[in-house]
Amino acid sequence: MTSPNLPTISFEFFPTKTDAGHEKLLATARQLAEYQPDFFSCTYGAGGSTRDRTLDTVLQLDGEVKVPTAPHLSCVGDSKAELRALLERYKNAGIRRIVALRGDLPSGMGMSGGGELRYANELVEFIRAETGDHFHIEVAAYPEMHPQARNLEDDLANFVRKARAGADSAITQYFFNADSYFYFVERVRRMGVELPIIPGIMPITNYSKLARFSDACGAELPRWMRKQLEAYGDDLQSIQAFGEQVITQMCERLLAGGAPGLHFYTLNQAEPSLAIRNNLGFAR
Ligand code: FAD
Repeated sequence: MTSPNLPTISFEFFPTKTDAGHEKLLATARQLAEYQPDFFSCTYGAGGSTRDRTLDTVLQLDGEVKVPTAPHLSCVGDSKAELRALLERYKNAGIRRIVALRGDLPSGMGMSGGGELRYANELVEFIRAETGDHFHIEVAAYPEMHPQARNLEDDLANFVRKARAGADSAITQYFFNADSYFYFVERVRRMGVELPIIPGIMPITNYSKLARFSDACGAELPRWMRKQLEAYGDDLQSIQAFGEQVITQMCERLLAGGAPGLHFYTLNQAEPSLAIRNNLGFAR
């Protein structure tokens, strides 16, 4: 595992719907495991749509691939009884880290989708009340502001609420502007919150998917990057080479500026994240 001076490295996966997808996920995870990451994490479909698949994937990554794995858990759409049962399963399986989120319900399910907890700070409180200090709790942070927040001040106050509810550290939404991260961290520190805030890193592999995804989650793709990526058209190789260079440079800046680690959104692919990690020259 990481020495105190090395940045933490973690990789995120999503549970797949097919056996073939799952086999690919495991192959990716085994490849990434060789680099001794600090942890893996696995996403959860709000409302419980991936409840069993997330659970099975987490237990397999943790137990068979042997990298400590953190399930994501979201509270909208899940009852307290459902959340309690999941926490119990994870605790009994020896899982020690959890990523606690509000989640986004598919449109048409209303704001809560029948869930009893409305915001992530309530989920953090619930996990602490149910399981004490058993879990290291990660929460989400938004250097470019959560898309539904009224303004940055509100969003910062809501982030601090999660910290005060008992979160241990945070992982950010991805961004392509390092200054937004530094500004966010500075503001949070001025509000008296010291927890580690780990940048979430999205490798660039496909322009149209990235543009769609970024619009939906409120991550800004800077004009100069958009124009350059558009200019490559269907030339995936150039898109990936450009993406690797730009993201590596951003990671270098983040780490030099004090970011305590990097969390890669792998989209279940090893190479794009590994290329960046290797460019950064981490010794393990
Ligand atoms: P919250 O912290 O609850 O914030 C949501 C919004 O409500 C913000 O605008 C905030 O300012 C506001 N708010 C917060 N607390 C309060 C309060 N007490 N009163 C009033 N307003 C408040 N989604 C999934 O469905 N599954 C996943 O596995 C998943 N993994 C993610 C991992 C990471 C690292 C990140 C960054 C995001 C992930 N998401 C996932 C997306 C996330 O669920 C959405 O961004 C969701 O819209 C917000 O979740 P949150 O936990 O940040 O919510």
